[in-house]
Amino acid sequence: MVAYVISPPVAPALPVRGSAALFPVRRIFCVGRNYAAHARERGASGEKTAGGPMYFTKSAHALAQSGSIQPYPPGTHNYHHEIELVVALGSPVFHGTLAAASAAIYGCACGLDMTRRDLQDAAKAKGHPWDLGKDCEGGAVVSEIVPIALAALPTQGEISLRVNGEVRQQGDLADMMWSVPEIVANLSRYYHLQAGDLIFTGTPEGVGPVKIGDRLEGRIAGVGTIELDIGPAEQSEA
Ligand code: MN
Repeated sequence: MVAYVISPPVAPALPVRGSAALFPVRRIFCVGRNYAAHARERGASGEKTAGGPMYFTKSAHALAQSGSIQPYPPGTHNYHHEIELVVALGSPVFHGTLAAASAAIYGCACGLDMTRRDLQDAAKAKGHPWDLGKDCEGGAVVSEIVPIALAALPTQGEISLRVNGEVRQQGDLADMMWSVPEIVANLSRYYHLQAGDLIFTGTPEGVGPVKIGDRLEGRIAGVGTIELDIGPAEQSEA
């Protein structure tokens, strides 16, 4: 029995459709600017870049369950929604081909890449890292994982988000500039990807702010739904 000087953290995990067992989350990778119309609304060209997708990461401890209430986070006045297809890996892949990348996929899910946009924009303007904007506690919201064994990975179909019943984002998975196998294969040139890794694959246009009391409801055809409620900000202890 290993002893620790402090309690080791509980491994973040997600429910799996059709199973009583959980999916343990290891790392969270995210692709930026993968839908041209969203890249343009954020001031980028919307062209497919030659070197591969653009990535950032979130801590696995930023994970939040679909259906939860998450407090409006600290340090921001412009917290944004981004609905995304999330891919979950079930086996390792390193320097993988497209076929090897596809074979490593365990399943997929709906995700919300919640973003402190004001902090991200301030960092971008200074050429600083995006971490404060993107790696936000409770800001990686993921639905149940749908195993590939139950439903094939969708390559087209609606991806949409409603806030308080009003459609805010509506796109099609077919508009992703980098496909899921291309993303996994490319990312595996930089990391020993492992079972438990999640990859957020980018958001369609229409990102925008949420406020306290908002209810977010996302849907991806062939995958499922995701819900999030924005609760009150936590009180400062000062
Ligand atoms: Mn995103």
